[in-house]
Amino acid sequence: MKITFPHMGNVYVVGKILLDELGAEYIVPPFNNKKALEIGTKYAPESACLPLKINLGNYIQAYEQGADTILMVGGCGPCRFGYYGALEKEILNDAGFNMDIIILEMPNGNLKEFLNRVKRLAGGFDIHKIFRAIRNTTRIAKQVDELEKLTFKIRPREIVKGSTDRIYKAFQEDMREARGYDQARKLVEDTRRELLSLEIDRSFKPLKVGIVGEIYTTIDSYTSFYLDSKLGNMGIEVERPVTISNWIIDHIIKSALHLPRDLRYVEAAAPYLGKMIGGHAQETIGNAVLFAKDGYDGVVQVYPLTCMPEIVAQSILPAISRDFDIPVLTLIIDEMTGEAGYLTRIEAFTDLLEKRRERTTIEENRVLSRS
Ligand code: SF4
Repeated sequence: MKITFPHMGNVYVVGKILLDELGAEYIVPPFNNKKALEIGTKYAPESACLPLKINLGNYIQAYEQGADTILMVGGCGPCRFGYYGALEKEILNDAGFNMDIIILEMPNGNLKEFLNRVKRLAGGFDIHKIFRAIRNTTRIAKQVDELEKLTFKIRPREIVKGSTDRIYKAFQEDMREARGYDQARKLVEDTRRELLSLEIDRSFKPLKVGIVGEIYTTIDSYTSFYLDSKLGNMGIEVERPVTISNWIIDHIIKSALHLPRDLRYVEAAAPYLGKMIGGHAQETIGNAVLFAKDGYDGVVQVYPLTCMPEIVAQSILPAISRDFDIPVLTLIIDEMTGEAGYLTRIEAFTDLLEKRRERTTIEENRVLSRS
């Protein structure tokens, strides 16, 4: 059995370390690329959401390198993610790609079935090995997320433009070759040190933008046309609360063990959206409110065309923008999105944020001079 898994930002690190620790054979698909999207678009239903199309492309590119089994996590709730696994298997098999899928979820709370799937992945039921694999996978997910957060802080302040991108890109490439938790952790630590050694402008006060939206398009930089690094290279510090580690810890581990979760976003979203409607709509609304309260200069929502939960969230965001006086930009992406138009919208939005800041500074100085 040769396993592969879909790309979504740094999820490949989590996937490969889990499989390394379990001793399974696997193939990491090529990083998301134009060809993968073209392949996925060819086989997926036209109205399918973008992540499904790119994932199909990942699987087929990995199949061409020898993969025969797909590992993915399951979803639930009123959005299409819940049937991605079954749908993808059917599309692949109909198109002649004979691949099996292992979905890591607890089907209808059936623990026995879940354990059977883990056993299949691990090639047996060695509880110590499985526990260590889960622990190390969770650790590396957290470390990689923290490293990415560090890039968000350093990029807008770096003196030599492009340094953060260069180091981070090399890290992502090198991580493909890392084997097991210890090598991966060392690579994260070395990269962290390299980033911290960069010369930065400590007096610079960048504009701050919160990124919200559908998890795939917010986390996967290729899909969002590198939104986080584009903003960073424009001198803007970004923050993105939905992360892979947070998803693993809060949505998988804590949910399964009925442990208390960080639900500040649920509370913040409550006046606008009082229940979970699938995807990350509730996070989008709650985090937009939290960003506004934390004094951020703007919020950018990103989502794939036809994403139902985010369409609902988009219709609510103008109320948050009005109530908290915070500008919100919505970017909708599909396989036809052109980078030039997309970039123009981001530039116009950042111009607006800069003008607002200039105006606020002038007003503050006027008040100060009167007192
Ligand atoms: S959250 Fe949106 S993009 Fe993701 S599966 Fe659901 S509908 Fe599709």
